[in-house]
Amino acid sequence: MRKFIIGLRTSIKILALFIVSCIIVLTIVMCIYKPIYSVSLNGEMLGYSKDKAELQSRILEYIETGDGSGNIAFVQIDNMPEYKLCFLKRGIETNDEEIFQKVVSGGKAYYKYYALSLDNEEKLYVSTFEEAEKVVNGLKEKNSDNVDSLSIVEKYVSEKHDLTDVDTAISSLYKEKKVVVPKSSGVKVAKLGSGYKDIGIKLIKPVSATITSRFGSRWGSNHKGTDFGAPTGTSIKAAASGTVTYAGWNSGGFGYLVIISHGNGVQTYYAHCSSILTKVGASVSQGQVIAKVGNTGRSFGSHLHFEVRVNDVAYNPENYL
Ligand SMILES: [Zn+2]
Repeated sequence: MRKFIIGLRTSIKILALFIVSCIIVLTIVMCIYKPIYSVSLNGEMLGYSKDKAELQSRILEYIETGDGSGNIAFVQIDNMPEYKLCFLKRGIETNDEEIFQKVVSGGKAYYKYYALSLDNEEKLYVSTFEEAEKVVNGLKEKNSDNVDSLSIVEKYVSEKHDLTDVDTAISSLYKEKKVVVPKSSGVKVAKLGSGYKDIGIKLIKPVSATITSRFGSRWGSNHKGTDFGAPTGTSIKAAASGTVTYAGWNSGGFGYLVIISHGNGVQTYYAHCSSILTKVGASVSQGQVIAKVGNTGRSFGSHLHFEVRVNDVAYNPENYL
């Protein structure tokens, strides 16, 4: 009986000693060798990773953001790699970068855009929601006829779209409002003034174009302004700062007309416009674009008819330019 107990104690001691030495050996091994993972994708061996955690987090980051180039929302990778722990392999070359490239090369990128739609038909794409909002607000400011049917749609698509910048988007989506102002209120027939009258302000040329018809009495009719020949769409600038007192259709022959009042009875007229970019009551600064040259009303060929009036007497604009 005693012999048996001694034998048992010895066995336990030997076993304990064996376990302890195993732990020591394993610890030494762990210190010398790092755990290395073999990596495979769809059964194909890609290589060995020295840092599985880093490789995995790189792949996940790529899925979330792509390569960081324009508008990638996420990358879809159908098959994720498999990792197998392989200890104690000496002289194994790791190739994390190569594995990473192989894994992501099978990915499919999805792009995020904002579509501007008119009546649910996508017209163009911008990069961010802020830009899309700017386009909508720009069109509202210009009183575009289609703002009510305009919408912003967030898009995730696998094909890359051409992106449009805000200003181009506004001008390509802009639709002129066909407003018919029934009465030509605020528009009086001017008398033809003669000579020079001090208007107290300096004017700038409303368009950069040449004069095609001058002020004055000719061929039995009175031309109460100066005509500048310019293509339709050319920007018309306010000749001086002031308040817009008329902006709309004039059935008396001016077509689309803008009138700016500069105080002391001084007004400038901009007639035959193709579009109007301001509204009654707006304060405009000198040089601000208020309209576009056109051929509306009693006009033959695209031009700006520009008048300078003082208490509805028209004076030669060339005196002030
Ligand atoms: Zn004219």
